[in-house]
Amino acid sequence: MRLVSKLRCVVLAGTFFGLPALAVGEAVPEAKPLATMQQEPFLEGVDTPPTKPQAPDSPGKTPGVRSKALAACVIPGALLDVAEPVAGGRHDGCGIADPVRLSGVVRGGDVAKFSAPVTVSCEFAKVLTGWLRQDVLPEAERAFDSPVAVVASGPGYQCRRRNNRPDGKLSEHALGMAIDIAQFQLADRSDVSVEKDWGAKTEKGRFLKAIHAKACKRFTTVLGPDADPDHRSHFHLDTGCHGQDCTYIICQ
Ligand SMILES: [Zn+2]
Repeated sequence: MRLVSKLRCVVLAGTFFGLPALAVGEAVPEAKPLATMQQEPFLEGVDTPPTKPQAPDSPGKTPGVRSKALAACVIPGALLDVAEPVAGGRHDGCGIADPVRLSGVVRGGDVAKFSAPVTVSCEFAKVLTGWLRQDVLPEAERAFDSPVAVVASGPGYQCRRRNNRPDGKLSEHALGMAIDIAQFQLADRSDVSVEKDWGAKTEKGRFLKAIHAKACKRFTTVLGPDADPDHRSHFHLDTGCHGQDCTYIICQ
């Protein structure tokens, strides 16, 4: 039954309206073949994405369709839809007042898409987009011959408590201020996996270390495989408040 409740949270988060938006000033790149995967609720320490991103996306989901910029949440280089406010769930306090559905980011002529659009607050989407465009994609460009095509992540919003424990504080996921990222698929179809490549003395391992370190300059919580076994398979990134003045950073 818990699974049913979690699924309901995701379904609730999936009722959206609004037009797909490409931020002002961004050139619309050509659509590229992209991969996707079945999206299941992604729970810290409980599961990992069920399948590797591999199948080409359906034509209707490929980027490159020009659309209006949304005044409500303009983020340069972000492919997003403004979404209907998310409210309610099985815990008090869940919800997002200004959610967006972020489907990917654009940098130059490259598009990196999430395996499925993620639901996060506009504010969080700005931080996430900045990290992807200014840290992750350039780092991948340096490390690999092929750009990042797919970011395999959880859904972002989930109405639940931290680490799925029955009591305690709400997870930042429940406020649209967190994302879990398990792997990156490059345009040449190779994967960089947090679970498999973290700590490896390889280009992939160094890439993951580099983007983890850079995440700590943008997010207030960055948890990876060195943090605890719950995060052996993914990076958890959030912008929650730590300490009295919210300046403390957790970078593990
Ligand atoms: Zn998480």
